[in-house]
This record gives sequence, structure tokens and C-alpha cells, in this order.
Amino acid sequence: MVISIQLTERQEKIISIVKYNQPITAENIAKQLNLTRATLRPDLAILTMSGILDARPKVGYFYTGKTTFSFISEKIKEEKVSDRKAIPVIVDEETIIYDAIVTMFLEDAGTVYVTANGYLTGVVSRKDFLKNAIGGLNLHNTPVAVIMTRMPNIVLTTPDETLLEAAMKLIEHEIDSLPVVEEVILDEDEKAYKVVGVINKTTVTRFLVELGNNE
Ligand code: ADP
Repeated sequence: MVISIQLTERQEKIISIVKYNQPITAENIAKQLNLTRATLRPDLAILTMSGILDARPKVGYFYTGKTTFSFISEKIKEEKVSDRKAIPVIVDEETIIYDAIVTMFLEDAGTVYVTANGYLTGVVSRKDFLKNAIGGLNLHNTPVAVIMTRMPNIVLTTPDETLLEAAMKLIEHEIDSLPVVEEVILDEDEKAYKVVGVINKTTVTRFLVELGNNE
């Protein structure tokens, strides 16, 4: 959740009083504004909750130096992949390309993840389908495994990564989505990945819109 950070004129005044008189008690801030302490209480609560002011008992209020901009930037860095992941579209390696294309349309997805025995083995995007359709591949009897981008060449994200880290991978690798995976140890050195979600350009854009609308 993003806390609203639209400051009122009075809150801006409080910030500037604290900035130049810190540490300063609520009573003294109230005096400077010709208001009562009770009137200021909600404003001081908002300013401390948002991290702009810091309150130390028996000492008073301090200005933390955090601008609203650095506050937004901190909020972005706190957002986790686990809170934003969407439901992935998954097909088995044996799935015929034609059926995978139908699935992609029905699920309104741009990328389909491919698994074998429930573990991630590949990814197929719109361009992969188009490229092979144009190339004349028989879409009715070829499995997706033939055309997919394979492990270990798949760029992954995990639930505990930040949304910002995931978004940076999308940009760096020029791809539309990342599978959100959980690692499973099969043998001593063999790792496999379960697909538990997807982060794509829509997921990231939705977060940006919520941030902008202070939702
Ligand atoms: P589109 O084909 O719709 O432009 P992408 O840009 O995501 O979609 O895909 C471009 C290429 O990158 C495709 O060949 C696809 O298989 C591959 N690809 C897609 N997602 C990933 C990923 N997470 N890791 C590695 N390769 C990917």
C-alpha cells in the first residue's frame, strides 16, 4: 500500500518550522502557528508516519531530510514480487504449437511458460509463434518444446525479489515477462524451478498507476 503524501499548506509550514528550530516540541510548533496542540496532532501524525519528521519523546520533533521524492523512491524499493505477481499461463512440453497458440488467445496472455513434470523448461512468446508460422513449420504436429527458449537461458525472478529488480531485468534483457519461481532441490546438484507467478509489463504498469493515484 502507498501512503498518500499530498501535503497541505499547514503541513508544509510545520516542516519548515521544524527544519529551522529542531528539536522543537509540539507545543512550540503550535505557538508559532497560533494554533492549539490538539489542532496540530493529525498533521504531526501524518508527517511522522510518512517519515518526513521524527518524534523523540521529551525532546521534540526533528526533520529527517527526506523529501517526498525519496519517500516515493523508498516505497518503490519496498514493493515485492510476491505482492504483485499475476497468474502465469503454463503448458506442458508435449503441447502442440497450435493448441498453445489457442491457449495464449483464450488466456489473453503474451507469453506461455512450458513445464515438464511440473518444472520450468521453457518460454514461448508471440514472436516465437509468428517466426515459426512464417517459417512454415507445421503448427499442427510440432510440440512447443521445439520452438521454445530453453533453460538455463530463461531470466527468472523470485517472490522475495523487489518489483524494481524484476522491472530492471525486463529492461536489461528486452523481454516482456519473467516467471516467478521457487527453487526445488532434486538431487545434490540438480535444481528445478516451479512457476508460481509472472511479472510482466502490465504488472509493473499497474503498480505505477496506483503509485501515481496514491492508492
Ligand atoms: P514478444 O515475442 O511478444 O516480443 P518477448 O520480448 O518477451 O515477447 O520475447 C522475445 C524473445 O525472448 C522470445 O524468443 C522469447 O522466447 C524470449 N523470452 C521471453 N521471456 C523470456 C525470459 N524470461 N527469459 C529468457 N527469454 C525470454
